[in-house]
Amino acid sequence: MPTQQEIVKQMNDAIWVLTEYAKKTFGLPDDFKITVKHTFAVGVQVSRGGLHRVNGVVVPYAKFALNRFQYPVTGMEEYARFANDPVIGSVKTGCWKSYLRVLVAHEVAHVVQWYLAYFMSHHELIRWFGRERGHGGLFQDIYRTLRLFVNPTLQITEVTHTRDELSKMRGIVIEHSEFVGKKYMTGGRVYECVGYIS
Ligand SMILES: [Zn+2]
Repeated sequence: MPTQQEIVKQMNDAIWVLTEYAKKTFGLPDDFKITVKHTFAVGVQVSRGGLHRVNGVVVPYAKFALNRFQYPVTGMEEYARFANDPVIGSVKTGCWKSYLRVLVAHEVAHVVQWYLAYFMSHHELIRWFGRERGHGGLFQDIYRTLRLFVNPTLQITEVTHTRDELSKMRGIVIEHSEFVGKKYMTGGRVYECVGYIS
């Protein structure tokens, strides 16, 4: 199993390459940068991407729940409405790097979604879809672009554990939650969430 250091390195590499790709593809400014946090806490299973207000400045922000990558994985399960999509659907893989790359693409897509809505409302995607929240057309369009970039690099390896087995192994219940709203994160600095989606 990978060390925490290896997991964080893989996360940072994926964020860097996807940020650069997103900048070019969606016409984001040169100084576009995502403030990234991560946690290995057992109780945190949901990653998020969006915008946060840090010391009065709204910045692109993502937080990754990395606990699961310390255990065997079964891949990335996507939301039911596009789980079977050939491009942005779920990925069954026992390769943690592939899973993490898909997760990063998902959250970076949310960051771009909020960034366009908040800072670039004249952008063609916002003109087309509106300031959609959640996992609707705007998110899926952005995510599709990122997944088309990421998918060819994925390693599909044998899945040796079921989701339920993993859940018992870690003593946690894996489930998705989805919400939009304002939330203050506790611990350390206080970030005002401008908007994010898991
Ligand atoms: Zn999401």
